Amino acid sequence: MAQHIIILGPQASGKGTQAEMLAHELNHRHISMGEKLREEVASGSKLGQMMKAHMDNGELVPDDLTNKMILRELERSPNGAILDGFPRTIAQAKFLDDHIEIAHVIALTISDKTAVERIGGRRECPKGHNYHTKYNPPKKPGFCDTDGLPLRQRSDDTPATIMKRLALYHEQTEPLIAHYKSKVISINGEPSIPEVHLAVLKALHHRKR
Ligand SMILES: [Zn+2]
Repeated sequence: MAQHIIILGPQASGKGTQAEMLAHELNHRHISMGEKLREEVASGSKLGQMMKAHMDNGELVPDDLTNKMILRELERSPNGAILDGFPRTIAQAKFLDDHIEIAHVIALTISDKTAVERIGGRRECPKGHNYHTKYNPPKKPGFCDTDGLPLRQRSDDTPATIMKRLALYHEQTEPLIAHYKSKVISINGEPSIPEVHLAVLKALHHRKR
């Protein structure tokens, strides 16, 4: 049976990178909600058009649309998926509970100070591949390794906005941690990317015994 894993972590916790590495290690599919939303909208599909209408109005994409997309992505993940950016709310977690078994929930933790420090170096390509000038640099500075597209800094990556997002994350995530209880594995996200990856693997290995 597919072993699905959720990865939680505030922005700048290295969540996307860790999800990608773990997916590769376990031969799982990395389902990044942000990336899938962008792909769906760019594809011009009916679902994408409905999503875009909400985004253009500055609204959140409603759960019935994101849920539909997540189910489809899970069906394409027979070995299991690493869910990144979903669920964000208890309602979404309950929806998942009705459809799949979650094996583990990895929660990456970093201090607010570290989050703000890391933000300055974050870069992403238009397709959503993430880099960091210091911690995860692309081979060719300024360009994506995967598709060669130019990397950019998000305009809302300022200390004030990151603090606001962190507060929102704490508010939304703590209920999820309570929801998944004993499935939650808390990992210190402060060390280097390879060290955190190793800690995640060790913790998963320990759980399976
Ligand atoms: Zn890219």
